Amino acid sequence: MNVKRGIALLAAVFIMSPVALGLGIVLLVASVGNDGNGGGGDFALSSGALRVGKDFVPARYAGLIEKAASSCDAGLPAGVLAAQLMQESHFNPEAVSRDPRTGRPIAYGIAQFIPSTWADEGVDGNGDGVKNVKDPEDAIPAQGRMMCKLLKKAKKHPGYNGSPIELALAGYNAGWGAVDRYKGVPPPSFADRQTYDYVRIIMSNVEKLTAPDTSGDPETSGQWSLPVNASLGTPYHQQGGAWSSGYHTGVDFLASSGTPVHAIGPGKVVTAGWGGAYGNQVVIRHPDGMYSQYAHLSKVRISAGDTVSGGQVIGLSGATGNAFGPHLHFEIRTGPEYGSDVNPLPYLRKKGLGV
Ligand SMILES: [Zn+2]
Repeated sequence: MNVKRGIALLAAVFIMSPVALGLGIVLLVASVGNDGNGGGGDFALSSGALRVGKDFVPARYAGLIEKAASSCDAGLPAGVLAAQLMQESHFNPEAVSRDPRTGRPIAYGIAQFIPSTWADEGVDGNGDGVKNVKDPEDAIPAQGRMMCKLLKKAKKHPGYNGSPIELALAGYNAGWGAVDRYKGVPPPSFADRQTYDYVRIIMSNVEKLTAPDTSGDPETSGQWSLPVNASLGTPYHQQGGAWSSGYHTGVDFLASSGTPVHAIGPGKVVTAGWGGAYGNQVVIRHPDGMYSQYAHLSKVRISAGDTVSGGQVIGLSGATGNAFGPHLHFEIRTGPEYGSDVNPLPYLRKKGLGV
């Protein structure tokens, strides 16, 4: 990967649809307007969920982006990946950037990989047997994986000019060699401002594309609490091939990645850690002999053997394990293991919780 990416970016502004062209100009103007000094800005980035909707992140890509971000163990915010996709292609999986002089295609797809980079970094994210640069289910996981590698590299260079996220973005745009050469984000004199502006524009859009954490604390009743403040998704016992039992063994709460997950009541933690298809999970035994389970967590904040109180934060929701997008999978069980599930909603209602 080299400066070609930067040239491709410039070309993209000229050859894409009028809508994209307009947005491109707005973004460039915005970037010039709030530009301060080079590369050193320190942003307090939340790892949280994306703001979905028209003018923000298209709903069909939000889950993929959040999963790509939460798969990175180096602290890669979903908002950074989203802002990057907005800048690369305006979320257009068919985007092709061409050399403005020769018309030759340079970069492809929602994450604008050049073919040589895709050959090294492409992944088959959806397991359909093809690494397709124009398929967001492949390109977004590849983008996340590549950014994660760059972020880890960046964190080894605390003396470089720029935050680790900014250095990773510069590496994605210009290749890590350029970051090493300038010991930081390359200055405006490099590649006709391409990399410099790329980093500034993306960093200025991260906050806009990140949802504020407005979830607040979930409803409580005495010693008991709902696990998250989020609406219900897939109900208990829904039939389907996605589940090994043939039906859904819990209820899903539509909580975005990073939402605090609360113990529903007092109890003792019997499981806290990796649970295969459940991803990171927690199982708690309550005084009435029943068990609650919390799955697909991005972070686990307690350990097996811990005593917890109702409402205590035990982790953060996510999309780990067998989950297409972020949500909290929640079960009530008569025993600690899979297969002893009962309908969670009557149980929660008996504890005085409105659900
Ligand atoms: Zn579920």
